[in-house]
Amino acid sequence: MSFLLKAGLVYTGSREIENGWVHVRHGQILEVGSGPAPKAGEVVDEPNCIAMPGLVNAHDHMYQWATRGYVPDGTLFEWLRALYPVWARMDADLVRVAARAAMARLLLSGCTLSTDHHYVFPRGRPGIFEALVETARELGIRFHPCRGSMSLGESKGGLPPDSVVEEHDAILADTKEMIGRFHDPKPGSMCRVVVAPCSPFSVTPELMRDSAALARKHGVRLHTHVAETLDEERFCVEKFGMRPYELMEDLGWTGDDVWFAHGIHLSDAEVLRIAEVKTGIAHCPSSNMRLGAGACRVEDLVRAGARVGLGVDGSASNEDANLAVEAHQALLLARVRATSPQALDARAAWTLATRGGAECLGRDDCGSLEAGKRADIACFRIDDLAHAGIKDPLAGLALAPPARAHTVVVNGRVVVREGRLLTADEEEIAREIAVTSARLAG
Ligand SMILES: [Zn+2]
Repeated sequence: MSFLLKAGLVYTGSREIENGWVHVRHGQILEVGSGPAPKAGEVVDEPNCIAMPGLVNAHDHMYQWATRGYVPDGTLFEWLRALYPVWARMDADLVRVAARAAMARLLLSGCTLSTDHHYVFPRGRPGIFEALVETARELGIRFHPCRGSMSLGESKGGLPPDSVVEEHDAILADTKEMIGRFHDPKPGSMCRVVVAPCSPFSVTPELMRDSAALARKHGVRLHTHVAETLDEERFCVEKFGMRPYELMEDLGWTGDDVWFAHGIHLSDAEVLRIAEVKTGIAHCPSSNMRLGAGACRVEDLVRAGARVGLGVDGSASNEDANLAVEAHQALLLARVRATSPQALDARAAWTLATRGGAECLGRDDCGSLEAGKRADIACFRIDDLAHAGIKDPLAGLALAPPARAHTVVVNGRVVVREGRLLTADEEEIAREIAVTSARLAG
């Protein structure tokens, strides 16, 4: 069955088409145009909206929806040390409830493709990764779950307590199993698995090396945290005699199959090198500001030609998951950092939130509205009180970010309509996460 979406303005990622339409069949875009529209089995008409490519979330930890609001004024290391013992109590039921909340919020804000970096697997609690994959299917979001890991506990000089780290061989065996069960490499895939040891201060160099080899053997992508804070930089220089990015290169974590979260504290040479080897950076402005981590050199990375996407990061260091807000934050933070309003413009911010994220995640079939791409579309109202009358409505949506999307389409399927989630009950999810967060807090 074919599907037609009409909108007052269609922003394809490069073109702006007034009174445009997107014609879709079997989840794929057949044509984008304006004027007389082709006939279709299902028509959604949004004359008061901007339709744009679905937003892409390039970094997240969805389980953290159950631990929002902890250590509101701490540094990353203070915040992590306080939260590890709480996270050690999680199980698959909690992860399912938290992921339902995180994914519902992402879809409602116009996100159609998200990764999730899950790295806490407490001993004797099966089914956590499975719960994430099942929840994405249930809610209808395109999903790239990362099988994360931690193997460097306090007793070996790492940051996390030994109770939340796993054994080297068990991590690799389980990661291989999850790739075999859930990874779909085909074009239009709704689920691709990623290999993702957590960070230089929670994983051994041996695990980083072996994870890269495993990922490359199976043709899946690699993701981790790099250069997020100066504490991390000090840790790496003291323990390994190298800066965080140098350590990544030393461990084989370089190339176009790798993307890093944050990439804040990078030297000039490192910025150029990341662009040269086509490694991606997931910029997470709200989380970076919340933790006082620093400001990513987004404009330098973009100018150098690097692949840069946006992430909401875990909601324990954001308290929300709204990609349009991240586009807004990225725009403002880049201008503060450069003391220049030319550092990043609104259209560049939307590029980060769409095509840039898709590039980080290795998706050439997502991130723009063009014939042949998947039909992942977000529509935002521009006639509501917050946006009515704004000159240049596309810039207006970045400067005054929408609280929620009006209509969201994933793979040709309408999952949000008139600001309401069609695949789950938003109020029920809110009640469940309140109960679960209270139970976890003890
Ligand atoms: Zn993170």
